[in-house]
Amino acid sequence: MKISAINTYSYYKNHGLQNTSQYLMSAPATCLQSDSVSFSGKTKNKSSYFVYDMRELEGLTCACCGIKMLKASDANKFLNNKVYYPVYEGLNKMVENGLINPNRENEPMQKAFSFMYKFSRENQQMTLNEFYTNDYVKHQRKKLTAAENKALDELREKIKLVAHSSGYLITELTKLNPPFQELEQKVYKELYTLAKMRPDEDFNTILNKPEIKKIYLNSLKAKQLRTLNNIQPVIKDLPYKYKKPLEDAIEESKYIFTDEKENTIHKRKRVIETFSTITNRMQDKQKAAEIQEILNTLPNSKNDVDAFMVRVAKKDPNAIMEILISRIRSTNEHVIPHHREDNNGPSNKTNYICLCGKCNSERQRTSYEIFVEHHPEMIANTQRQMDKIIYFINKGILLNHDDYPEAIKQRLNIESGGTTKTRGKIYLDTSALDINQAKVNRKLREEKFSTGKTQRKLIEEFGELYKHSNRKKSKHS
Ligand SMILES: [Zn+2]
Repeated sequence: MKISAINTYSYYKNHGLQNTSQYLMSAPATCLQSDSVSFSGKTKNKSSYFVYDMRELEGLTCACCGIKMLKASDANKFLNNKVYYPVYEGLNKMVENGLINPNRENEPMQKAFSFMYKFSRENQQMTLNEFYTNDYVKHQRKKLTAAENKALDELREKIKLVAHSSGYLITELTKLNPPFQELEQKVYKELYTLAKMRPDEDFNTILNKPEIKKIYLNSLKAKQLRTLNNIQPVIKDLPYKYKKPLEDAIEESKYIFTDEKENTIHKRKRVIETFSTITNRMQDKQKAAEIQEILNTLPNSKNDVDAFMVRVAKKDPNAIMEILISRIRSTNEHVIPHHREDNNGPSNKTNYICLCGKCNSERQRTSYEIFVEHHPEMIANTQRQMDKIIYFINKGILLNHDDYPEAIKQRLNIESGGTTKTRGKIYLDTSALDINQAKVNRKLREEKFSTGKTQRKLIEEFGELYKHSNRKKSKHS
C-alpha cells in the first residue's frame, strides 16, 4: 500500500472523530508538504496595455446575433471566483453535503482528496482554476499514479457541484452586470425574486421546491397547449387524410406535454417530428410551412423563461449560472468547421471569428452559405465585428493579428459560397486596416507601458514617425 508520510484519512481514523467537518478542521498542520508552496507575486500587468486574444477585446459584439459579449476571461473569473467555491472551502462543503465521504472512498480518491486538501489549506482563497494551473501542483501531480490523477480531476467536477446561496450569487451577478439579452434578463429578474424569498438556499434547491416548480411548469404547459391549439384553425379545411392525422398529432402532443413524465427529455423535438412526418407528405406546401412555423414558436429553454427554469432545475446545482454565463461569453468559432469530413478547419486564429456561446452552439457544421439564410443579420454583424477588430489592431492594442483580417476575409468568403474569383454571401471590407498606424501606436503603447509616460508626451517624442504614418495613409486613400 502506497501511503504518503502523513495521511489525513489515517489521522481521521486514528482519532476516531465522528463528524467529518470536525475531522477536516482538526487535520494536523504537519499534513502539509515540507516543500513550501510559492505563489508568484504580481508582476506589472501588461494585459491592460495589450490584448493577444480577440475574445478579450472590450465590448466585442457577436459576429452572428450582434449582442455585446462578456470577455472570456471575465466569464472564467466569475465562474471560478464567484460561482464555484474556493478549493479549501469547497472540499469542506463537499463533505458536509455528503458529496464525498472520506472514509468510504477508494484509495486513489483518498490520496487525491488528501493532496488537494493539504495544498489548499495553505492558501484558503485558492480557486479551482488556480489549483489546477498551479506549477507546483502540476509538478506534484507527476508523482501521482494515473488513478490518483484521475481522481483529482473528478474532484474538480465534484467541487463544481457545490453551490453558493442564492443571496450571495445574485449579489455577485448584479455586481458583474453582464450584457444580458432579453431572455437572460428575464431569468435574472426571476432569480432576483427567488433569492429575495430564500436568500440562504441555493437556486437549484429553490427551483426544485414543489410549489415553485409547479409555477414554472404550469406556465410552460399553458403556453405549449396554446401553441398547439393555434394549429386547429389552420388545418380545419384540409382533406381528411391530412386533417385526421394532424388532429391526432395535436392530441398526442398534448399528452406528451402534460401527461408524460416530467423529466422525459426532447419532448419539444418529438412533437415537432410527429408533425413533420405528416406535413412532409402534404401537397399544400404553404399550409405545411404554416404549421411548422407555429410549431417553431413552441417555447424552449433558449427563448422562454419558464422553459429555461424548468430545464435548469433538472441539472447540476450550478448549471443555472454556468448556462447564463456561457450564453453571453465570447467564444472562438471555427469558420471552416473543425470536424468536417472532407475539410477540417484549423484550430487557430486564422480560422476564428467570435460568437457568443448561444450562437456558437447553434451552427454546428452548416456552411455559412446556408446558415446566413436563417441568420441574415450575420452579414452585417460580421462586418461590425471586423471593424472593431481592425480598430483595435490600428490602435496598437490587439497584437499578433496583422494578417488576421485578410485571412479571415478569405475564409468567410469561401465558407459562404464564394470562390477565389467570386464573392460569397459574407464578403468583408477590411480596407480600414492600417498596419503603419498600428506599428506607431504599438510603439507608443510599449513606451507608455515601460516608462509610464503619458500618451501626449509620447506623441511629442514620436511626432515624426507619427506624421510619417499619417502621410502614407493619405497617399493610399
Ligand atoms: Zn450571438
